[in-house]
Amino acid sequence: MDLSFGPAYEAFRAQLRAFIEQHGHEAPERVDLRAPRTLAWQQELIEHGYAGRTIPREYGGHGAPPDILEARIIAEEFARAQVSPGLAGQGIKMLIPTLLHFGSEAQRRQFIRPTLYGEMIWCQGYSEPNAGSDLASLRTHAVLEGDHWRVNGQKIWTSTAHLADWMFCLVRTEPDAPKHQGISFLLFPMSTPGIEVRPLTTMVGDASFNEVFFTDVRVPRDSMIGQRGDGWKVANTLLGFERGMLGDPNNTLMRFNALVELMKRETVDGTRLIDNPLLRERLMKIQGRMLALRANDLRLLSAGVNDTPARLAGLVVKLVGTELRHELEALAIDALGEIGALYRGSPLLRDDGMWQQHYMYFLGLIIGGGTAQIQKNIIAERGLGMPREPKLA
Ligand SMILES: Cc1cc2nc3c(=O)[nH]c(=O)nc-3n(C[C@H](O)[C@H](O)[C@H](O)COP(=O)(O)OP(=O)(O)OC[C@H]3O[C@@H](n4cnc5c(N)ncnc54)[C@H](O)[C@@H]3O)c2cc1C
Repeated sequence: MDLSFGPAYEAFRAQLRAFIEQHGHEAPERVDLRAPRTLAWQQELIEHGYAGRTIPREYGGHGAPPDILEARIIAEEFARAQVSPGLAGQGIKMLIPTLLHFGSEAQRRQFIRPTLYGEMIWCQGYSEPNAGSDLASLRTHAVLEGDHWRVNGQKIWTSTAHLADWMFCLVRTEPDAPKHQGISFLLFPMSTPGIEVRPLTTMVGDASFNEVFFTDVRVPRDSMIGQRGDGWKVANTLLGFERGMLGDPNNTLMRFNALVELMKRETVDGTRLIDNPLLRERLMKIQGRMLALRANDLRLLSAGVNDTPARLAGLVVKLVGTELRHELEALAIDALGEIGALYRGSPLLRDDGMWQQHYMYFLGLIIGGGTAQIQKNIIAERGLGMPREPKLA
């Protein structure tokens, strides 16, 4: 099977490699959302067309015509070089494509550029107590009063709410409609009076997500994406972008390469970790699954190029990708033995504790964006056409 993309694309790849070689040292090693270095790198990537490549120029993007193979080469090359491919938060990966789909011209002009440049950080107000997997049961509501919505209720597990400038939020606007039909999609600044953010500490040790409370929060009437009561459609489109992002096989490849390097570098009694047969077998199993995930990605790629649906291939990405990442990070910790148990503040710590951090974080991501069980239900019902899960009366 010939997997090369042809001479024109290989020239594009060579140009990109040269860029990474020349400028890669300017990339931040850790993504700190507000750091000048992070923002400068994002700007440089947009200018060269390696971030926001197909976003129209009038919205701040690079304005190149959509080309799935170029997008693929960009993802592959940054992963190969282990260099940051730029910002990838909820605003950029989830909200911008949703705005391009459903936003009005005024909304696109207002939000896309600052979001793409990392000047406007977003959080996602979907989940509530008792409305996680069953998201359509959400109870936070908005009542129209003249030219404003008045929002009351509570969200939970809101990642980056403490850092965010704005929230995209699901609210119930039609209390008497069937539950999927009474939801609307609102945008508002986190500085609006009546919003209270309370941090929740995760097992990583950071307060990276939060509870958010709304008391009589006033939101201008035109802050809605899509039609009133039509938010479920907008919300689901956005969830599709979220699932694609959460299992990204190129990120997995980047971590796999880092793991191989770690296992070659570290030794126990003079033997490299990679030469330990038990660890090596685990590494090979992960490599096999990773190659399967990348082959699945090629199915998505060729479906995209041929403009044919690839529903099942799309659905497995989040489920398999997040579980595989968790396994991969776990192997690094096990391979490091007693050093693997260290997390912060020790001179013996390897790679600044990132293996431990990712291990715990990816356990969370098996849940976030739709749990593994729910992904399996969706794959069974919508992907494989199996009978629907019986609903409790
Ligand atoms: C790291 C992380 C980040 C997150 N970030 C955000 C965010 O930024 N914004 C946001 O809005 N939300 C966020 N979430 C919330 C996340 O989307 C929800 O946790 C998730 O949808 C699950 O909902 P729940 O926690 O209410 O669990 P529940 O729905 O109560 O589920 C509990 C358990 O029951 C299982 N279960 C439930 N229903 C079924 C079923 N029908 N069949 C089989 N099993 C079932 C679930 O799989 C799970 O194991 C985040 C979560 C995590 C972990």
